[in-house]
Amino acid sequence: MPYLRDVFRDVGDGALDLVFAPVCVSCDRPIPTTEKDRLVCRLCWVKCRTLPHPRCERCWAPVPANEDPRPKCRTCGDWPQGVRAIRSAFLMGDETRAIVHALKYRGGEGAADPMAQRMAEMSWPRDVDDEVQTVVPVPTSKARLRERGYNQAALLGAAFAKKMGWKTAPDVLVRTRQSKTQTALHPGERRANVARAFSVPAEQVERVQGEHVMLVDDVWTTGATALACSQALLEAGARVVSVATFARVIPELERQA
Ligand SMILES: [Zn+2]
Ligand SMILES: [Zn+2]
Repeated sequence: MPYLRDVFRDVGDGALDLVFAPVCVSCDRPIPTTEKDRLVCRLCWVKCRTLPHPRCERCWAPVPANEDPRPKCRTCGDWPQGVRAIRSAFLMGDETRAIVHALKYRGGEGAADPMAQRMAEMSWPRDVDDEVQTVVPVPTSKARLRERGYNQAALLGAAFAKKMGWKTAPDVLVRTRQSKTQTALHPGERRANVARAFSVPAEQVERVQGEHVMLVDDVWTTGATALACSQALLEAGARVVSVATFARVIPELERQA
């Protein structure tokens, strides 16, 4: 079709970019070709909010300015000692939710890398930087794995491990029983629902023994899932567990936005 070719030659490559430019998963606008990211536009990345200061050094939960979270933080004070540090790249909000959604439902590969990049920019206590060598993703249920064809936490964990120079051990944790869907449950019910839902198979135990393991998930909601996974890792002989997620749900802060 000589005519079409001429048209494109006349208006230049810009027209092709316009036709095929990827669209931002958050705002639905085409992503300018000058931007490297093909998933989320720069403006939407800028709108993603980090967790506010001051925060608890251990769990990064925001604490009131006049309250010292030491020795006992209201959020993490009762957690097992072996749980060392929790970090999330962003607060859950409109943009972060759209990005997480892309990781879960749009094949994931394109989303995991830019998400992991933001997680790799988080700061950790010195001992975490020094000790961690292995990333363990939170396992998904068999039903969801069938549905989606992949575990989004495993994709994210692998991308994050690569950026940090760590290895990933996707088979260390398994779901021992099907927990009910968490969405409709209160925090207390969530904890009861997921307690003992995870374990480390005997043949995987040596991969975590004595290790400081980095557990990875896409979202931290109440922490029930991550804490149940941490418990299973510690019982299997992991020395310490830290947790990294892309987003953290803090409903009060989301409402303020
Ligand atoms: Zn956008
Ligand atoms: Zn805390």
